[in-house]
Amino acid sequence: MAILITGGTGYIGSHTVVELLNLGTEVVIVDNYYNSKPEVLNRIKEITGIEPTFYEVDILDKEALAEVFNKHRIQSVIHFAGYKAVGESVGKPLMYYKNNIAGTIALLEVMEEAGVKDIVFSSSATVYGLDNPSPLKENMPTMDANSPYGYTKVVIEQMLRDLAHSDEEWSITILRYFNPIGAHQSARIGEDPQGIPNNLMPYITQVAIGKREKLSVFGNDYDTHDGTGVRDYIHVVDLAIGHIRAIEKNTEKRGVKTYNLGTGIGYSVLDLVKAFEEANDITINYEITDRRPGDIDTCYADVTLANEELNWRTEKTLMDMCRDSWNWQQNNPSGYDNLDAVTE
Ligand code: NAD
Ligand code: UDP
Repeated sequence: MAILITGGTGYIGSHTVVELLNLGTEVVIVDNYYNSKPEVLNRIKEITGIEPTFYEVDILDKEALAEVFNKHRIQSVIHFAGYKAVGESVGKPLMYYKNNIAGTIALLEVMEEAGVKDIVFSSSATVYGLDNPSPLKENMPTMDANSPYGYTKVVIEQMLRDLAHSDEEWSITILRYFNPIGAHQSARIGEDPQGIPNNLMPYITQVAIGKREKLSVFGNDYDTHDGTGVRDYIHVVDLAIGHIRAIEKNTEKRGVKTYNLGTGIGYSVLDLVKAFEEANDITINYEITDRRPGDIDTCYADVTLANEELNWRTEKTLMDMCRDSWNWQQNNPSGYDNLDAVTE
């Protein structure tokens, strides 16, 4: 029996595939390479010694997806595939609603037809919106998601709860990620943002490598210990392992369960900059600029539920995250693009 990973060549998906393959689990990946590269598959093979089974499929294409379910005995699905840029979603809401929501509906319909009723879904801390105080708990209200991207997660979560309610054979786990950073310690897989990074850590690593002149710190007048925004950064490998615990738990129960995956600790922008400088003995050029619209002061998780029910705990420190992010960037200055190969 295999685990189907949608979006398995993406940032979090590829790290989860590696952890699953290392455990000897059979994995089938589908991805349309919208935000990832075929090279990821070579890197996964380098790390694990196993060539992952891969299909270039858009999850909106139900026929192609159904064929994958026909070819393999799928036990459960980990559903990463989706668009994730908050800012872009404000300008292109329909594109986000279509890909994320219609894509998930297509997947769930194909699963239902194939009799596979076991899924782990990638949600986000963004569902907690602007008004809930940290530490954020799973039972807090999730109505005000603050962006079309965030609303796709709110809607999909509700759809999954309704599905579990309608048919008690479904086993569903919703994982709300906080801020994944870092990379596999081999530095062969990592985050490969296209264009100017929106997120803090890839921006810092691009400043460190000289691709960007300086980091803009978005505001230092927040109600936090040093005035800069506080977030719950989690190492992507710890996050990947959280999915393995969730898959294991899914086989034991029916219905729907929701868990925060974070460390439970908040660090400010300047804490992260200092940690990066210390971990890697490098100076990051930065300036304080205006706040970024829509940002909140503080966002970190209460992780009691995942600790207790999934028997999962993060193991990596902020130093590990900073060191691994930098190793990845240094070893892959152009991400998965091998610029040396372009000689003409
Ligand atoms: P990513 O963009 O690196 O990976 C997503 C993968 O899905 C990509 O490889 C992309 O090509 C693929 N994809 C997108 N649409 C598809 C479609 N229609 N058919 C097939 N494949 C498709 O993103 P990530 O950081 O690995 O995030 C994975 C999931 O976790 C996403 O759903 C994202 O919203 C969620 N999430 C991410 C973060 C984060 O900070 N990275 C935080 C919270 C939640
Ligand atoms: N941030 C920043 N400069 C950047 C990118 C982000 O100061 O170039 C800040 C941002 O305001 C927030 C934190 O870093 O306080 C994390 O931002 P990110 O976009 O990585 O995650 P999110 O805000 O979505 O949690």
